[in-house]
Amino acid sequence: MKESLPKTGIQSKNRIFVNRSLNFGHIKLIGFDMDHTLAPYHQSFENLAFQETLKKFIDAGYPEELSSLTFKKDYAIRGLIVDRERGNILRVDGHKYVKDAYHGHTRLTKDDRYSLYNKHSIRAQDFLSVDTFFALSEVQLFIEIVDYMNKNPGKIEKSFAEVYSDLRKFIDLSHRDGTIKTKVLSDPEKYIHRDRYLATTLVRLLDAGKKLFLLTNSHYSYTNVIMNYLLADGHDEFPSWKDYWQYIIVGGGKPGFFNGSQPFFEVIEQSGLLKIHSGDLDSSKIYYGGNAKTFEQLTGYNGDEILYVGDHIYGDIIQSKGLFNWRTMLVVEELNLEVPKHDEVKKFTKEINDKLDDREKLDEELQKIRSILAANKRQAIKASLKSDEKKVQSLESASMKLTEKLDSKKDQLKQLEKNIKVLIDERDSKFHPLWGELMKVGLERSRFANQVCNYACIYSSQVSNLRFYSPYKKFMSFHERLPHEE
Ligand SMILES: [Mg+2]
Repeated sequence: MKESLPKTGIQSKNRIFVNRSLNFGHIKLIGFDMDHTLAPYHQSFENLAFQETLKKFIDAGYPEELSSLTFKKDYAIRGLIVDRERGNILRVDGHKYVKDAYHGHTRLTKDDRYSLYNKHSIRAQDFLSVDTFFALSEVQLFIEIVDYMNKNPGKIEKSFAEVYSDLRKFIDLSHRDGTIKTKVLSDPEKYIHRDRYLATTLVRLLDAGKKLFLLTNSHYSYTNVIMNYLLADGHDEFPSWKDYWQYIIVGGGKPGFFNGSQPFFEVIEQSGLLKIHSGDLDSSKIYYGGNAKTFEQLTGYNGDEILYVGDHIYGDIIQSKGLFNWRTMLVVEELNLEVPKHDEVKKFTKEINDKLDDREKLDEELQKIRSILAANKRQAIKASLKSDEKKVQSLESASMKLTEKLDSKKDQLKQLEKNIKVLIDERDSKFHPLWGELMKVGLERSRFANQVCNYACIYSSQVSNLRFYSPYKKFMSFHERLPHEE
């Protein structure tokens, strides 16, 4: 995860980071997802989803007491993994090693973690990945209900997996029956952050000759209000939010848009009804559904001429890149807070690295002593066979001294490892009190970071960071050195 360029005066939180070199001058068409990409949501949205879903639990006959469960701001993070069967939430590194786990609010011991998850490598497909912001309230609610079940045995006579399946059902219902959407539409400002540089950023791309398209899974009535909120009055020459886009596709059903074959429909704006579409895509019309293969055929843009900007690794990035070779930009909102923290934790990072060097040296010293002890033992046996008592005694006395030294070094190593652990925990807590840094788990890359690095060509904290860079820029990847190149 090397930075795209030497320090340029662009604030670190506004930088674009490069995993795979990308020549922006070569990009002709840029697509944007809406929810959490153009439209970052405030946490009040998670709170709303939490409360509405909780109501549905109680309506379905779960204990009334659940209504006292409260939404905790900043509690869950993306990249967590849910073990629905056991009711546990896991924090996993890039090697699928479970570094931390909670059952409700109770932390699992190292031994439990080992026997449940680390004895054999976990299969990620057996668990649920928390990839989207929309899943954060879901995970927190699951943690709260599991905790309630532990403290109140017998009050909910269901397995954790059954509770999770209800949770999914109730969340979907809250979205489907309009409970959540109606509230957002009536007061978008309360739930969505309006980036005041969004319009300027898009115009800058248009001025450089790029065409833009919107590809969202949200339906037209919702998209219309949200996009209007984001872009109305954004720029004098673009009175309507629709003026920015060459193509507008709602109800895209990603990842189906990339791996399916659903046809394009045209949205009749007055009625919201759909009619099947044939022929070229018209920039003055709104489309529903569709698929990437037909999209490429109808627009004449293909593969790496297209950059798609989204926030969902699986739905937006993996499929578009893997199946169509579109270039990808991932919006990782968390970097807004996390990147500046790297400066704050610099002293911890340095201290950890120094101590890791000390540990390496100490470990080597221990190995040397162990080798000498083994050699002494071998020579003492030989000397004893030759009845050379003097040599035996001298070797034994030397070994006794070495054993004392070994024990003392072992204690030092133990203490050093403890200190390193304390420093890592302290460093992690600067990012998040429970889960640490999004992109790291202890000293390792997190599973989430691995996915970001493997699938997103470039990534940044928000769309409007594009305005800091030339639309012709060559984003260069400075590959990380391999271990043997040190
Ligand atoms: Mg999205």
